[in-house]
Amino acid sequence: MSVTVTEKSQVKNKEKKLQEATSSKNLEEVLDKVKKLDNTCSFIKCKNRTNDFAIECKYCQGRFCPTHALPEIHGCGEAVRKDERRKYLHPNIKLTEEKHSQAQTKLNMKLRQMQQERKSKQGFGGKGKKK
Ligand SMILES: [Zn+2]
Ligand SMILES: [Zn+2]
Repeated sequence: MSVTVTEKSQVKNKEKKLQEATSSKNLEEVLDKVKKLDNTCSFIKCKNRTNDFAIECKYCQGRFCPTHALPEIHGCGEAVRKDERRKYLHPNIKLTEEKHSQAQTKLNMKLRQMQQERKSKQGFGGKGKKK
């Protein structure tokens, strides 16, 4: 029970800090405060410092400590699922490349056929080697 209370107050604290940071009129102060906040994990309950190594999430652009780097853990699970779904619904690049190469092969075959046809026609036209 007491754990939940502490976590809640921590969340409030961080939110308040963020509000303070963004509401300040002094730009340098804002940047400084945001920078300081940026040095901790973006996970709202986490106070791990990320000065040395932060893992940026490609879904929310947040910087996280290794513990919360996984999208599923810090709340980007939905974004991941959407992304997976998008990949599933739309043919992936490999497939299109395969199709493309198939079309290319067909085109090449057609071209070769046409060339051969032209050659045989030319042969009948008597334009072949004389002498
Ligand atoms: Zn994320
Ligand atoms: Zn963290």
